[in-house]
Amino acid sequence: MTPPRPTQTPPHASHAAEPVLPLVVVGAGAAGLTAALFAARAGADVTLLESGRRPGVKILASGGGRCNVLPSEVQLSDFFTHGSDNAMRNVLRGWPLADVHRFFTEDLGLPLKTEPGGKVFPRSDSARDVLTALLRACKSAGVHLVTGARVHALAADGDGIWQLRLDDRPALRAQRVLLATGGLSLPKSGSDGTGWRVVQQLGHTLTPRFPALVPITMSDAGFAGLAGISLRATLEVRDNDRLIAREHGDLLFTHRGLSGPAVLQISHHLACPGGESRTLLLRFGEQDWRAALADGRGGRTVASPLRDALPTRLADLLLSRAGVASDARLATLAKPARKALMRELERCAVPWRGTEGYKTAEVTAGGVPLSELRLKTLESRVAPGLFLCGELLDVTGRLGGYNFLWAWVSGRRAGEGAAQT
Ligand SMILES: Cc1cc2nc3c(=O)[nH]c(=O)nc-3n(C[C@H](O)[C@H](O)[C@H](O)COP(=O)(O)OP(=O)(O)OC[C@H]3O[C@@H](n4cnc5c(N)ncnc54)[C@H](O)[C@@H]3O)c2cc1C
Repeated sequence: MTPPRPTQTPPHASHAAEPVLPLVVVGAGAAGLTAALFAARAGADVTLLESGRRPGVKILASGGGRCNVLPSEVQLSDFFTHGSDNAMRNVLRGWPLADVHRFFTEDLGLPLKTEPGGKVFPRSDSARDVLTALLRACKSAGVHLVTGARVHALAADGDGIWQLRLDDRPALRAQRVLLATGGLSLPKSGSDGTGWRVVQQLGHTLTPRFPALVPITMSDAGFAGLAGISLRATLEVRDNDRLIAREHGDLLFTHRGLSGPAVLQISHHLACPGGESRTLLLRFGEQDWRAALADGRGGRTVASPLRDALPTRLADLLLSRAGVASDARLATLAKPARKALMRELERCAVPWRGTEGYKTAEVTAGGVPLSELRLKTLESRVAPGLFLCGELLDVTGRLGGYNFLWAWVSGRRAGEGAAQT
């Protein structure tokens, strides 16, 4: 840990004795490291402040320690914003996916591989390699990294010079500040929402924020008994009867509720404001349940097709929820019972209660609206000289490398923007 070194003092600085750093980047996560790197490569003298003892903690924790660096394909519909799709497109197109891929493989020298399903990982399966490559590039570009430096307040004086107040350290002054402090998810990684508090004090608004890519909780003893079961299912979120979102994929029953890729993917439609009144419906398996329940040959019981296709504990729970005895004969099953069972198999209304919150959420949805930034540089329109990127902004990606893609792309744009203005 080295203290930040003073650099130049611009002629208009009001306290000539106090050094003014040209550019301070706050937050050495995915977005901040990229911003610092590209700002330094564009010629800026960059000081990168990180509150934690180490930079890039979330990179290390990502993708189960493997870091899903990128997706293999990208569409606008892979991202969610409360604001304009055009603004989001503008930023994403600024650094096309193929070029970001090349940045990692050729520029950083980090071989990547694409897994079936389209997720891109380092060939070494090591998130640490991603962080090491970024840190090495930052170092050789001349970025001055200071760890254990938590910024808690930011204000500009009349000359447009920023003062950054830090915990347990002297304040710093800077010509330009770039905030890349992330969201609220995984608080132990250093994400405590300070960045949002700071920009709000400077006059920015925030769109509603809520945990996204997060497990769902349930308060039903029956479902809790399914903990450990994983299977493929189709999930639907409905508002009254209106379809809001549909996902097909793997889900996992946990002691607290539901997890797994399909659940995380659809979770923000439940976690968002107004989502609490929505219904989560599950369709189990991919078979034609109507045909399976119509086949009563040989005195088959109702339990038989269910237990053939589903884990026994789940089959039994669905039978009990439908009020059908497991030894009832399919051939003589009454119409209302058949209907109830079909409903449990194809439109099972899950008694969901909430989400596991920021503690386990991969990202925070919502944040600073892109409309409050100059898109070309990601400079604040509200507080000139301040640049923002990464999860702080109101853009959230799907599971599969999209959130890192946003961090790299927005980080580069803000870094180059801050270096040039
Ligand atoms: C468990 C987990 C797994 C994930 N896996 C993936 C994945 O495989 N692929 C993917 O695309 N996305 C993944 N994500 C999401 C991804 O990690 C984030 O989208 C991304 O890290 C956001 O980057 P960021 O730089 O904006 O914020 P962060 O990575 O959160 O970085 C912010 C940095 O700022 C620092 N900081 C905060 N406040 C201050 C302050 N006041 N002063 C100084 N420093 C401060 C923090 O310590 C932190 O280092 C995962 C997230 C989690 C939680």
